[in-house]
Amino acid sequence: MMTELYDTIVVGMGPSGSTACYHLARAGLKVLGLEKRVMPRPKLCAGALSPRAVAMLDFDIGEAVECEVHGAVIYSRTGHPIEMSTQETRGLVVDRPRFDHLLLKRAAAAGAQVQEGEAVVKVTPGQIIEVQTGRATYRARHLIGADGANSVVARALAYPRGHVGYALECVIPDRHEIIRRHPELPVFFYGYLPSGYGWIFPRQGGVSVGIGVFAGHARAIRALFRDFLDALSLPAEYAQRCRGFPLPACTIGTLRRYGRENILVAGDAACLIDPMTGEGISYAMQSGELAARSILGSLLGHEPASRAYGRALRSIRHDLLFAYLIALPLNLFPGMSLLSLRENQVISDTLKEIIMGQARYRELFMLGFKVVPTTLWAYCKGRR
Ligand SMILES: Cc1cc2nc3c(=O)[nH]c(=O)nc-3n(C[C@H](O)[C@H](O)[C@H](O)COP(=O)(O)OP(=O)(O)OC[C@H]3O[C@@H](n4cnc5c(N)ncnc54)[C@H](O)[C@@H]3O)c2cc1C
Repeated sequence: MMTELYDTIVVGMGPSGSTACYHLARAGLKVLGLEKRVMPRPKLCAGALSPRAVAMLDFDIGEAVECEVHGAVIYSRTGHPIEMSTQETRGLVVDRPRFDHLLLKRAAAAGAQVQEGEAVVKVTPGQIIEVQTGRATYRARHLIGADGANSVVARALAYPRGHVGYALECVIPDRHEIIRRHPELPVFFYGYLPSGYGWIFPRQGGVSVGIGVFAGHARAIRALFRDFLDALSLPAEYAQRCRGFPLPACTIGTLRRYGRENILVAGDAACLIDPMTGEGISYAMQSGELAARSILGSLLGHEPASRAYGRALRSIRHDLLFAYLIALPLNLFPGMSLLSLRENQVISDTLKEIIMGQARYRELFMLGFKVVPTTLWAYCKGRR
């Protein structure tokens, strides 16, 4: 069955898709959001919203909030933990199914037509794009692929799979001793895995424990998770409860992944996860809004939406690339990298500002570069 023509179809109603739908509908466009699940759907995620993400929210998400966080702590195998806490700005931990549902309802309230339980199976590009689901074929002038890590839209554009990393996570009912020590702080662990990082985030009535590793170690991820639990003195049986999902992080290889002509990709479909922390929700919302604005600009006859969007994403991507360049030594030489953080006040202040959304990774990278000789010296002295 062929249906009416939409200005834009958005595939996937996670944070990127719902944000895009909201901005398009608010501007008066005829928008259709297609979501394969029925909301609130389960979503594997630690649910942490950085202060940067919180600053983007201009509506009440109270019913999805589990707790507030004020900074972060970094643990390494060697040396003392590095605590960066402040009461000035706050991050939140949210229940993802409820949070995503709120975003979807906001898009629908703004006038977007949303159809849940309808998976897109095929996309045919063209001046008028055809989008096929199990129920119907829809047509639109623009399309946004916001359908996550295994995006059908990215596949239609012949993008390779962007699974740079994988994550495993489980939520456990007891508050781990480390969280009791730092009650309002998400904890990151570097140097506990051959690549990647581990985390414990506070949740309502428990904690989320997880690891994210680069794709090269994905096959061994369950064994690595068991080792991580062991290092934290947590029962290995929790490994049976954990679930995994790809982490499409930003790397040099994903730089040109934004879309073509009238088809755009956003959020995880565009590989916009921070390779250092695994943060993806804020980049999903930001890219969803930028995709919507690029389409609105193109309708005013400015230029093809993909060109404006590629330009708009550039500054986010460049900064995430610096995060990638910082993540590499942090993963390969965690002891030395964290020493520079511990010994150098300017570096730790800058990292704190990044977490607060007040500085960028580029600044941290440049600073880190400058202190390499002194850090190396201090590291070698410490090992003698
Ligand atoms: C274990 C784990 C923990 C994480 N923890 C955090 C965290 O604490 N903080 C943070 O900021 N980020 C975290 N992330 C990353 C974050 O979850 C993602 O970056 C974010 O969900 C991306 O949003 P999105 O809208 O692009 O995609 P998604 O949230 O994945 O939404 C995509 C939507 O598209 C739908 N869909 C898929 N295919 C189709 C189709 N064919 N047709 C129709 N609909 C479709 C899906 O059902 C889904 O609703 C974590 C990721 C993992 C794996």
